[in-house]
Parts: sequence; structure tokens; C-alpha cells
Amino acid sequence: NKILYKDQIMERTNIVDIEDRGYQFGDGIYEVIGVYDGEPLMMDEHMERLARSARELKLPLPASISELKNKLMQLVEANGLEEGIIYMQVSRGTAPRFHEFPDPKTPAVTIAYTREEARESDVEVRGASAVLAEDIRWLRCDIKTLNLLPNVMAKQKAVENNAVEAILHRGDIVTEASASNVFIVKDGELYTHPANHYILNGITRRKIIDLCGALHLTVHEESFTVDELLNADEVFVSATKLDIIPILKIGGDTIGSGDPGEITGKIVQAFRSLYKKDVKN
Ligand code: PLP
Repeated sequence: NKILYKDQIMERTNIVDIEDRGYQFGDGIYEVIGVYDGEPLMMDEHMERLARSARELKLPLPASISELKNKLMQLVEANGLEEGIIYMQVSRGTAPRFHEFPDPKTPAVTIAYTREEARESDVEVRGASAVLAEDIRWLRCDIKTLNLLPNVMAKQKAVENNAVEAILHRGDIVTEASASNVFIVKDGELYTHPANHYILNGITRRKIIDLCGALHLTVHEESFTVDELLNADEVFVSATKLDIIPILKIGGDTIGSGDPGEITGKIVQAFRSLYKKDVKN
């Protein structure tokens, strides 16, 4: 498999410098982009978010967004990727280890690789369980940074409980999940946490909100409580890597009827038809 490292596409080798700031401080940003039929999905939206993350962290990108997009396309072609993901990260570069930003001439280090992965998994159809976990992250969850330790701890809790996700809450308020956004359905309408500094504004989340418009479904970008989550008619999580997964159980509580919900099903169909030509609405 080939990787994109700095500005070159090369064979995969061990190339992380011990003083790469991404490695030492988590000082960098990343994106995960789905690929289907050899085509990156919602590439523009992902790259716009990367640019925003870079601006928020005062991290100068090593190339223009359109150059980065071209490189990623070349990588997908070089690896012959049909279905899977592109992972891309940009760190603030390699410099002697001091907390403050390095010399502004220090070039950012860009790295990207692809991974083959089926876009459609069994849990998307059958649904899965989630657990609850306190959201202990910092207050800039809107930036897609490499600092993911609280997310890692939460996801591990989910896995140890045979669950697919950990749904995070700050006190009473549900924010998102360890690596996905959360939606609930109550009385035929959807609710999801507003896109502010408490959540990552998922590309999948935004697309679902758009699709709901076309499906004549009302979405409230309003926060909801843990109690409202547990008493919802339907719950699902959304992310590039997961697509949309119906959540049937949270901890010991069954959600709604305990089966994937009808509204979730409609949204899953509509979402898949965006990239799968053989899915009918
Ligand atoms: N929230 C968090 C914390 C995430 O890590 C992710 C994706 O990795 C998402 C939400 C979903 O974002 P997207 O739909 O852009 O993949």
C-alpha cells in the first residue's frame, strides 16, 4: 500500500519522527473520508472542515485545499481503492520539543493512507447497543484534532460492554458519541445537538439534516437530556466510518420497540442512495 507523506506518494515505511508534534502533543488535525466505487464521498465538505480545523489551531496547511484534494485522488488511484476510507492527518511538523509553536518556517507534516473496508456493515441493518459515558473532553470538540484520548477511553468502555458506541453526556445533556453524532426521534421528529463547540459537526450529520428536508422530516438542532435519549422512539448514530447505525439498547434500557425504527430506515435508505446507484428510495 502506498501512502502520502509530506508531498510525495511513496511506499509505506516507518517514518514518524520522534519529535513530530502530532506524535508528542497530538498537535494536529485529521479527516476520514469514505470511498465508494473509487470515488471519495463528500470530499469538498471534508476538506473545508480540515481547513477550518487548521485555522482554529493556527496551523498553516502545507498546500492549498485543491492541491491536497488532487494528492488524495492520486493516492486512491495508486492504491486502486474501490471501497473503504482515506485517512489524512496534518501535524504542526517536527521540531525540538517545546510546548509553544515551533519556528513558523517549520513545515507541517501531512500523511495519508487508504484502507479497504466494506461501506455497508451488518450492524447498520440489524442495529446495535450503546453505553453511556461522561463527556470529559475539552471545550473545542468542534475541531477535529488528533487528541482523542477521552474518545478512546469511551469507545473502549463500549467495546468492553459489547456495544458499538459510547454516547457522551455533559451532566444531563447528551452531546455526541465517542466517534459519531447522535440523533433521536420522538413523535416523528428528529433532535440532534446543535453544532457548537461541544460536538464535532459531522459531515454525515449535516448530510442527514439536508436529506431530512427532502424527506419532509423535521430536525431540531436542539440539545436533549439523557432521560429524553432513553425515552426516545428511535436513536441512531452517524459517522463516515459507520454510516448510520440504529441504536436499540443503551446500557440496560431498550429504545422504542427494540427494533430498528421506521424513520431511521428511511434516512439510511436515502443516505445510501447518495453513493450507491443500486439503492432505491
Ligand atoms: N463526532 C466525533 C467525535 C467523531 O470522531 C466523528 C467522526 O469520526 C463524528 C462525530 C462524525 O463525523 P463525520 O460524519 O464527519 O465522520
